[in-house]
Amino acid sequence: MKILQLPYFLFLAFLSIKTFAQGNKKPNIIIILTDDQGYGDVSFNGNKQLRTPNIDRIANNGVVFKNGYASYAVCGPSRAGLITGRYQDQFGHSRNPLFAPKDATIGLPLSEETLAEALKKTGYTNMAIGKWHLGVHASFRPLNRGFDEFFGFLSGGHKYFPKQLVLNDISEVKAQFDAYDTKILRNNTRINETEYLTDAFSREAVHFVEKNTDKPFFLYLAYNAPHAPLQAPEKYLARYKNIENTDRRTYCAMVSAVDDGVGLLLDKLKELNIDKNTIVFFLSDNGGDLSKGSYNGDLRGGKSSLFEGGIRVPFAMQWPGTIPPKQVYEHSIISLDIFATAVAQAKVTPKNNIDGVNLIPFLTGKKKEAPHESLYWKMFDKGSFAIIQGDLKLVSIKESTPLLFNLKKNSTERKPLNDSIKAKNLKKLFDVWDTKNIKPIFDGLGEDKQYSEKHPDRYKNVEKY
Ligand code: CA
Repeated sequence: MKILQLPYFLFLAFLSIKTFAQGNKKPNIIIILTDDQGYGDVSFNGNKQLRTPNIDRIANNGVVFKNGYASYAVCGPSRAGLITGRYQDQFGHSRNPLFAPKDATIGLPLSEETLAEALKKTGYTNMAIGKWHLGVHASFRPLNRGFDEFFGFLSGGHKYFPKQLVLNDISEVKAQFDAYDTKILRNNTRINETEYLTDAFSREAVHFVEKNTDKPFFLYLAYNAPHAPLQAPEKYLARYKNIENTDRRTYCAMVSAVDDGVGLLLDKLKELNIDKNTIVFFLSDNGGDLSKGSYNGDLRGGKSSLFEGGIRVPFAMQWPGTIPPKQVYEHSIISLDIFATAVAQAKVTPKNNIDGVNLIPFLTGKKKEAPHESLYWKMFDKGSFAIIQGDLKLVSIKESTPLLFNLKKNSTERKPLNDSIKAKNLKKLFDVWDTKNIKPIFDGLGEDKQYSEKHPDRYKNVEKY
């Protein structure tokens, strides 16, 4: 009997040491960001045409945010908000940054702390993969913003087929959208990629996780799919032979490639037995572009609009063993909450005031109330704004008379409420929030031509890298 008891005791001791060690280890953070994926373009939000079995695993293992928002309706500012945990309008990042390699003012201001920089303070190893879009000048690049490794591209979009990546480096870029043709960067070195870009990003993500099982890591996996240009190889197109519209078929194929990559990554976390110590977020940076194959469900509008279709995005999260599975969370949350959640779990103090909320107590049931009193959006150049408080939303598009909606009763934003007092109160709240904002600090895509006229040497004598 005693002989049997000893190994059993040792086994129990081993288990408790293991649990103790895991419990004390700071959780890994993975953000999987897609680009222009519509609210309706995941199976977990009800799409029957496009299948996302792997992205759905995140939702099943954890939570679907039915009302999860991006902080802006286009790429650049949304990413600035996500990576800093702050409303980007407070630091003037309200435009898509121009491709201006010699300009040290066009990019995420150095006064801002990225999530990678924050986590670095407590010993995380960080990697950014995919689309950067937070500045091209050397000072703005990922390795200068808290990331230990980078694999991807710097501009707002990119071609997907390796054969099309014909420019050796940014010194060969002679116009804004030439940047889509550059070779891929591994850290600061251009490489000859041979895979379809989405597959390459998935491969790198899995590799990074494999290399970093013993210490806390942060992986920012920012797929440019399914952002235009619509390009997919036969492997993925074959899954949607039944779709006649070429744009839609290609779009679905591109999302399918992302979905495969998400599957590989989730499998790897499980295989390495680190899935319970890894928080995975999945979201899109803004709503789908309806002219480019996206589907936002029954939401009104799309990319670049402050109607729901532009800012409400597919959004899910898992942390198995800590947050219960199969949750559908109804209260409004925002991409800024990712930063707040991550730094709270990593027990690190951010440099700046952040606007997000640590979501964990809300997802474990410890806190029952809504995480946010109100959420805000502003598009400076368009004169558009929106505020959501509870079920109410006040939205003004291009300085038009603000419309008031009850999102719970009318999520399609087709039937405005006639309640001038409520509308006035929300506008007041928005105006108070707006006092913290500043004007955009750099020229954006809309000023491409004017910027080149003002800076005729924009593409001249650019360093080869
Ligand atoms: Ca986008």
